[in-house]
Amino acid sequence: MSQLAAVPATRTLGGSGIAVSPIAWGMWRLAEDGRSAADAAKLVHAALDAGITLLDTADIYGFDGAGGFGDAEALLGEVLAAEPGLRGRMVLATKGGIMPPLPYDQSSEYLNAAIDASLKRLKTDVIDLWQIHRPDILAHPQEVARTLDAAVAAGKIRTLGVSNFTTAQVAALNHFLGHKLVATQPEISPLRIDCFENGELDQAMQLGLTPLAWSPLGGGRLATPAGDRALQVAAALDVVAEQAGVPRSVAAYSWLMAHPAGIIPIIGSQNAQRIAEGAAALTVRWTREDWYAVLVAARGERLP
Ligand code: NAP
Repeated sequence: MSQLAAVPATRTLGGSGIAVSPIAWGMWRLAEDGRSAADAAKLVHAALDAGITLLDTADIYGFDGAGGFGDAEALLGEVLAAEPGLRGRMVLATKGGIMPPLPYDQSSEYLNAAIDASLKRLKTDVIDLWQIHRPDILAHPQEVARTLDAAVAAGKIRTLGVSNFTTAQVAALNHFLGHKLVATQPEISPLRIDCFENGELDQAMQLGLTPLAWSPLGGGRLATPAGDRALQVAAALDVVAEQAGVPRSVAAYSWLMAHPAGIIPIIGSQNAQRIAEGAAALTVRWTREDWYAVLVAARGERLP
C-alpha cells in the first residue's frame, strides 16, 4: 500500500517566509466559562511547549450574542502582558470584519478601527497574520486591498489572510492587493469535505496560500459521532488511530495534514492535555487506501 508523504516539521505561511508549526491552536472558546488569565496562560504554554507555534484568535471570539466582543483577544493580551517572552514564541493570527449587530463590515473606516482595537487588546505592536473573518459583500475588493496594504505598510500587520471566502472572492481581493494573501481559512474536517472538490484547495495551491482548517473535528462532533455518516467516518478514522496508537481526534488532524495543499488544522480544544496530544498528528502516516476510505465514508457514497 502506498504511503502518503510525511508532514514536514514546519510549514511556511504562504510566500511570507514565516515558519509555523504544521498544526495550530485556536482560541474561539478561550474566554468561555470565565477562564482566568492564569488558566489561559497554561493553555498557551501547553500549545507552545508541544511545538505548536501558530495561534489563532479573532476580535469577535467571546461574543455570546449579547456581549463579550473582544474578550478572547483581551484574555490573550493579559497573558502576554504577564509574560512578555511568550509573544516571540508564537506566530499570532487574528481576524476582524464581523461587527455585531451588523453582519459584516469591511469599510476602510471600520477595518482601520478594528485592527487598532485588536492590537490594543492583544497588547502587541504587530499582528503576524490578520484575516478578514467573513466577506462583506458591500465592500469593493479594491478598497479593502487599499486599506489592508496600508495597514501592512504601517507595520501593524505582517501578513494577510481571509476566512470563509469563495474562490472568486479570494481571487478578486488578491488581484488588488500589493501584499498578497498568504492564508485562507475555510471550515474543513472529515465531516466537512466541500473544499476538496469545490476548488478552494486547488486555488490555495495555485496561489501558494496556506489553508488553515477551522473546526477540524466538526466542532467536536467527531468525538461523539451521531448519525450513520458520522459513525462511518469515525470508524474509518479509528482504523488508522488504532494502528498509530493515537486518539481519533489526532487521526482526524493527520488526515487533513496529509492533503498536498499543506492544510494546517486549528485545534479547538481548551484542554491542555488534548492540545499537547494534537501535536502527535505529524507522526501519523496515511496510505492512499486508508485516506480514501475516510473520504468515501464522508461522502456517504462510493467514488465514481
Ligand atoms: P474542533 O476541534 O472541531 O472542536 C473543538 C471542540 O471539540 C472543543 O469544544 C473540544 O472540547 C471538543 N472536543 C471533544 N473531544 C475532543 C477531543 N478528543 N479532542 C479535541 N477536542 C475535543 O474545533 P473548533 O473549536 O470548532 O474550532 C477550532 C478553531 O478554529 C477555533 O478555535 C478558531 O480558531 C477557528 N474557527 C474559525 C472559524 C472561522 O469562521 N474562521 C469558525 C470556527 C472556528 P474541549 O475544549 O473540552 O477539549
